[in-house]
Amino acid sequence: MRRAALIVGGGPAGSAAAITLARGGHAPLLVERTRETADALCGGFISWRTIETLERLGIDPDALTPMRITRARIFAAGRRGEARLPRPALAVSRRRLDTLLLAHAETLGVAVERGVTVRKVAEHAVSTADGATLAADALFLASGKHDIRGGARPAEARGSDPTLGLRVRLAPSPALARLVGDAIELHLFDRGYCGVVLQEDGSANACMAVHRSRLREAGSPEALLRDLMHEAPQLGERLAGGWSAIDAIANVPYGWRTERTTSGVFRLGDQAAVIPSLAGEGMGIALASGRSAAQAMVAHGAAGAAAWQQRFARAVAAPLRNAGAVWALSDRRASAALLPFAARVPGALAMVAASTRVPALD
Ligand SMILES: Cc1cc2nc3c(=O)[nH]c(=O)nc-3n(C[C@H](O)[C@H](O)[C@H](O)COP(=O)(O)OP(=O)(O)OC[C@H]3O[C@@H](n4cnc5c(N)ncnc54)[C@H](O)[C@@H]3O)c2cc1C
Repeated sequence: MRRAALIVGGGPAGSAAAITLARGGHAPLLVERTRETADALCGGFISWRTIETLERLGIDPDALTPMRITRARIFAAGRRGEARLPRPALAVSRRRLDTLLLAHAETLGVAVERGVTVRKVAEHAVSTADGATLAADALFLASGKHDIRGGARPAEARGSDPTLGLRVRLAPSPALARLVGDAIELHLFDRGYCGVVLQEDGSANACMAVHRSRLREAGSPEALLRDLMHEAPQLGERLAGGWSAIDAIANVPYGWRTERTTSGVFRLGDQAAVIPSLAGEGMGIALASGRSAAQAMVAHGAAGAAAWQQRFARAVAAPLRNAGAVWALSDRRASAALLPFAARVPGALAMVAASTRVPALD
């Protein structure tokens, strides 16, 4: 049976597409490889712009968490700079966000099949791990960090010293609550950064992006964390109570985006564009791409995929470029040391924050 729309991946991008298609009168099938929603590796920072997109999708931000993040704090070379965010943001675990989004899609009539891994994508069809072929007029590729044969992002996009993501959880404690409070913290260190923020259950998410060369020098993720406790003492204070098992993902192609796609295939989220994560806008891009691609499908059918992909790539070009420039500055010891001072300049943080948000697409 050939469906009108098939969505591969039940992260923010896939769920946003599913919700919008269902509202537009389509009955998409969404396939997701995991059987239960996991807590995906992510900083969990949701910007004010992303909050607006969530509201447009019918998600009440207070149902995610009643807490708000109002400040950004930057640490580098032992210095600290702090400023108010232009508007309140929030921080939530991916388990909570992805669960709510997918449940909302299901209440709108989206068929969700879990435990289905797509192995190959082609024009108008995908092959699954159990040997089935699923055909559709339009395919929404929302597999995020995971590349799929036939639709994989180019290996060169990773760069010569690729970036890895590492994440630990820090158990709730009065000390952590006092230290971090209602701020999103960015601890900058040689060839990487660690974002620390309190999430809905009071635990802290400590999520870092680090170049492979730095991890190799340390020897292992555990050894890197121990090194960082000395190199970045304020981060060390937050890690002092110990951490959970370390989650990791390899080869995050920061700055990559595509204008091109296969006929009838809408590439969404990290499969469309990857913004450096310290901007805290990856989920914004995922949700906005899912929503706007689905709107294009409702208006123009599967034939609208190519034009939509070009339009989306153009819309995110400036935020990606600006976030790339900040990542390049934060990545080097000499320039990173200046960023705590820069954060204190009135209006500076608001300007950078605005320049790295995905624009409204409708
Ligand atoms: C270190 C780091 C920190 C970050 N911090 C933030 C932050 O604080 N704020 C922010 O906004 N963004 C952040 N991001 C970016 C954000 O996590 C991503 O941009 C976002 O998750 C992309 O959403 P997505 O829906 O495209 O993909 P994903 O969230 O990766 O979801 C993809 C889904 O597809 C499923 N899937 C994968 N392969 C298959 C397959 N073959 N078959 C079926 N299903 C499949 C997966 O199981 C998953 O559920 C961070 C990223 C990194 C690396």
